[in-house]
Amino acid sequence: VRELRKSYDSGGSELTVLDDITFSVPEGTSYAIVGPSGSGKTTLLGLCAGLDATDAGTVELCGVSLESLSEDERAVLRNRKVGFIFQNFQLLPTLTALENVSVPLELRGEKQAGEQARELLAKVGLGERVHHYPSQLSGGEQQRVALARAFANRPEVLFADEPTGNLDEETGNRVVQLLFDLNKEAGTTLIIVTHDMDLARRCDRMLRLKGGKVYQREELPA
Ligand code: ATP
Repeated sequence: VRELRKSYDSGGSELTVLDDITFSVPEGTSYAIVGPSGSGKTTLLGLCAGLDATDAGTVELCGVSLESLSEDERAVLRNRKVGFIFQNFQLLPTLTALENVSVPLELRGEKQAGEQARELLAKVGLGERVHHYPSQLSGGEQQRVALARAFANRPEVLFADEPTGNLDEETGNRVVQLLFDLNKEAGTTLIIVTHDMDLARRCDRMLRLKGGKVYQREELPA
């Protein structure tokens, strides 16, 4: 990310939400973005993931400059290489938990997609909820389905917005463990927005935002 800027129209005046943000996340590492509420973390995550367009600056994802891609091309890149655990979850509402996880496996031609999906859901503690639709699951449960789906997809990069935000301590710890398992086992690069400083400190690097600017950068001891 280089010299990124983003503003929103706020009742006729321009509100700069991110200003002159530069950082890079080495492949296969974990990266935490922290900062006070309203400092621009979620906006930054969305821009890095190509969900929204920047006003100025460049974002490169998996070696490709996002500005050079059309919206359709960005969607293809996301589908192939990127996973999301976002606050609005992006589960498919007409599919059960099991189907939300098994469909990407089936699309990839995996054998026993259903069985694998069941195992992944059991890993995130949802073995008893596989036939529930997203609307029948709590926020934290939906988030865990999204995590199981991210595991199924084995993305090159996983963007997670407050992955432990809705969870009790035990479930939160389990989710954190799974995130780092994915990082270690599949080499997935993790980019995590969080208020959870224990989680942030487990990452390789941390970027602290304040008022839409980079306030501090830290390389964390292993
Ligand atoms: P939190 O920790 O509370 O989730 P955050 O650091 O993730 O906050 P953002 O969600 O990125 O913050 O929002 C940054 C600022 O941009 C906020 O002041 C918010 O009000 C504003 N903002 C976000 N989205 C929009 C939008 N679509 N239109 C106008 N303003 C927006």
